[in-house]
Amino acid sequence: MNVFAGGTDRQLAWEELQRRVESCSACGLCSTRKKAVFGQGNRSSPLVFVGEGPGADEDEQGIAFVGRAGKLLTRILQAVAIEREDVFITNVVKCRPPENRTPQTEEMMACNHFLEAQLALLRPKIVVCLGNTPAKWLIKTSEGISSLRGRWFPWRGIELFPMFHPSYLLRNESKKIGSPKDLTWHDINALRKRFDELTKGGPSS
Ligand code: SF4
Repeated sequence: MNVFAGGTDRQLAWEELQRRVESCSACGLCSTRKKAVFGQGNRSSPLVFVGEGPGADEDEQGIAFVGRAGKLLTRILQAVAIEREDVFITNVVKCRPPENRTPQTEEMMACNHFLEAQLALLRPKIVVCLGNTPAKWLIKTSEGISSLRGRWFPWRGIELFPMFHPSYLLRNESKKIGSPKDLTWHDINALRKRFDELTKGGPSS
């Protein structure tokens, strides 16, 4: 099926894509997952969030970002008046890596066509890369999230914006100036500003 099709075909392509993810056995993660996590949210949103992979709660429920990190992400978004239901959220790999380890390169390569097809169908203006793995994977860099976060990267007509993963913020409670939480506060406000510029025709930076 042509995932770049329009109208009803796009809807059919989306449903077919979801079916393929849910029954996929293209990498070893299929043998330990409970549920593949396709992603969920507003498919018309200009804003897509991409995390690393499902955790235990997500694996159990088949829904992205429902655990503690997901709840923190919800609060971060709400701080700039964005509701979770208004964005689409997915991951680089759709099945949980055992013990929440970082996905291996072969696993990300096996799964990558699903993410690419999702982005082709969603056509967002901004993709927020949550943490090291999606940032490095999409930008194709060896730089880490500490240097990538808060910067804009053009990617196939989309703007990539890396931010710290909320699970990293849960492990770093400090709110001092320059702390991950403080930097995330700056980043989410920069994201909100750019989002408004792109969607409401404001001045571009
Ligand atoms: S992680 Fe991706 S490629 Fe691997 S089994 Fe799951 S859906 Fe398939």
